[in-house]
Amino acid sequence: MTNPRKRAVETVVNREVIAPKHAGNKVSDYYASNVFTETAMREYLAEDAFKAVREAMRSGKKISREIADSVAAGMKSWAMANGAHSYTHWFQPLTGLTAEKHDMFFTPKGDGAIEVFGGDALVQQEPDASSFPSGGIRATFEARGYTAWDPGSPAFIMEIGDGKTLCIPTIFISYTGETLDFKAPLLKSSAFLEQAALPVVHMFDKEVTRVTATLGWEQEYFVIDEALFYSRPDLMFTGRTLLGESPAKGQQLEDHYFGTIPERVYAFMLDLETEAHKLGIPIRTRHNEVAPSQFECAPMFEEVSIAVDHNQLLMDLMERVARRHKLRVLLHEKPFAGINGSGKHNNWSMSTDTGKNLLSPGKTPKTNLLFLTFFVNVIKSVSEHADLLRAAIASANNDHRLGANEAPPAIISAFIGSYMTNVLDEVEKRVSKGKYDELTNANLKLDIHNKIPDVMLDNTDRNRTSPFAFTGNKFEFRAVGSSANCAQSMIVMNTIMSNQLVNFKNSVDKLVKDGESKEGAIMRVIRQYISDAKPILFEGDGYSDAWAKEAKRRGLNNVKTTPYALDFFLTKKAKELFVKNGIYTERELEARVEVLYHSYILKIEIEAKVLKELVVNNVIPVSIDYMNKLITNIKGLKEVGIVASASKSQKDTLAKIANHVNAISDGVVKLEVALEQAHKAKTTSLSAKAYCDKVKPLFDVIRDNADSLESLVDDATWTLPKYREMLFIR
Ligand code: ADP
Ligand code: MG
Repeated sequence: MTNPRKRAVETVVNREVIAPKHAGNKVSDYYASNVFTETAMREYLAEDAFKAVREAMRSGKKISREIADSVAAGMKSWAMANGAHSYTHWFQPLTGLTAEKHDMFFTPKGDGAIEVFGGDALVQQEPDASSFPSGGIRATFEARGYTAWDPGSPAFIMEIGDGKTLCIPTIFISYTGETLDFKAPLLKSSAFLEQAALPVVHMFDKEVTRVTATLGWEQEYFVIDEALFYSRPDLMFTGRTLLGESPAKGQQLEDHYFGTIPERVYAFMLDLETEAHKLGIPIRTRHNEVAPSQFECAPMFEEVSIAVDHNQLLMDLMERVARRHKLRVLLHEKPFAGINGSGKHNNWSMSTDTGKNLLSPGKTPKTNLLFLTFFVNVIKSVSEHADLLRAAIASANNDHRLGANEAPPAIISAFIGSYMTNVLDEVEKRVSKGKYDELTNANLKLDIHNKIPDVMLDNTDRNRTSPFAFTGNKFEFRAVGSSANCAQSMIVMNTIMSNQLVNFKNSVDKLVKDGESKEGAIMRVIRQYISDAKPILFEGDGYSDAWAKEAKRRGLNNVKTTPYALDFFLTKKAKELFVKNGIYTERELEARVEVLYHSYILKIEIEAKVLKELVVNNVIPVSIDYMNKLITNIKGLKEVGIVASASKSQKDTLAKIANHVNAISDGVVKLEVALEQAHKAKTTSLSAKAYCDKVKPLFDVIRDNADSLESLVDDATWTLPKYREMLFIR
């Protein structure tokens, strides 16, 4: 049998570029053609149904059952006119993927069939909930769960090969009403934000009637050839390479960033963009990333729940479109050791229905105060609840990134730039002197608007090492993992900010009641918040050891692994925040964290199994073959009478290989013991910690030895594609 690695490499070298399907067409011709947009609704829905759906989208008003029947009929006609003959409720369970269960429209009637789709099928479905994680909720309550239509997200048609399916965005809840997905709590947190932000906005502007959180994500990913992917069981089953020696030329040359995009990947990107645009996903930018074979794409920002749907859809599309090009997209946070991993920057802000971005500096002193109010409340909320932001990005995958000298550190801090730093200092100084009026009248020296666009939007004032950075008119949360559902961190962001705004309003009201002027009260509270938030403000190098020390001195946490970071969700403070504000019930929160511990355990367990298989079935046999070759050679040299010293180098190599093979075998034995013990731990939380502290370190021992073997053993017989092949052959 030929070496599978050689076969894969040969396949890749001989690949042709597969032409993109719709290259050259105008995007405006097909944009959102697979979405049940307002325009489509106007055409396919009766007047009252259209109005009801629009009301539901804008203000969350309930839709009656009769109207639902009418909406379903219109939706079906639209879907069928566009070639869809089946439908599915589409939702975002806690597995992090999306889920669908397809049903056909047709139903047998007489000796033929008719297509039906009624309000009942639109509004509610019962997927087999037992196959989705629920953190024990189903066991203690009721075995069933159901999906419920979320009219706030438009229905769409997903094309899979030649098939088309109507997808209805839904939330997923247990029979007793507990949320089992990402979407429902996200919607709750958005509603909370609106409710908390409006009274604050009204202090400045009475016209505003809606406030929404906005999200623009930037998605990083790797692309490798399908043939190489299939020759690496670790990539197939865990999404990352568990073994592999770093290539001689990694990203040291930094020549990949913004370099030309390889042709096959470019064709894939064009197809991906077309499919995304048909679904109304506004992706606009594409470029290479820092690591070889790493890329990024980003859309225009949107209202947060739509942006989350779109990111989930995009990740799904990436998989499907890549297959057409014989490529595989790796969404894992750290597919390759020794080079950069992938993240998903979450650009977050808030905007009003009057078109104002609340984190964009204003043109007048009055709007500047509005900006300053929201800006300072953000940093104050982050300083209060930094640990929750850390918990929100925790995953087994992301542990490889955070704090690994490339991605943001595991310490949550905020970067605001030198200009805003000065502004805050100025405010602190003046308010201390009691000069509020001077600050708020027309000669306000905080001419923020004129300076910020130049200063902040200039790359020189960007700090790439900060996990949470102000970038001129939004905050960018950069520590989110590339494969994560953005909702997890957006739920936390919305909730801590809303809670903060409620406190802010209460404090201001109290001062006003005690006789302070409104502006004076606002400035006084802002000043207090500026000093409260100081510990999390950091402008320096987030990757440095000095920062880790300084952060410790400031009392900031530096939790590097998931099972410990998740504990932050269960503190009294966290429970109070989420429960009091109606985002989760206590049981929901506990169940959710249980699911996260469990998913951590599963990931490490699978990695352990795959690693063991790779070393036992690949690395060790190939190494032993090579040892036999060396032995034969050494014996042969002796037979023909060559002096023993001439075979010294072979003997040395032989000894080294034997040592590494033994070390791996030892490692595997220890791994089995550690796995068994971790499995037996009393609670899921303790078990996750044992997997983290006792099982995972053994991966490194095994890997080090296996990677040394890779550099000792004959290249011609090594069976696993090497880093240089996966990263540089296209
Ligand atoms: P970068 O230099 O980080 O690439 P960009 O200006 O290209 O910055 O924006 C990155 C992302 O931020 C884009 O997805 C963009 O839509 C998003 N973004 C811009 N403004 C906002 C906003 N007000 N709210 C949320 N996201 C925003
Ligand atoms: Mg960015």
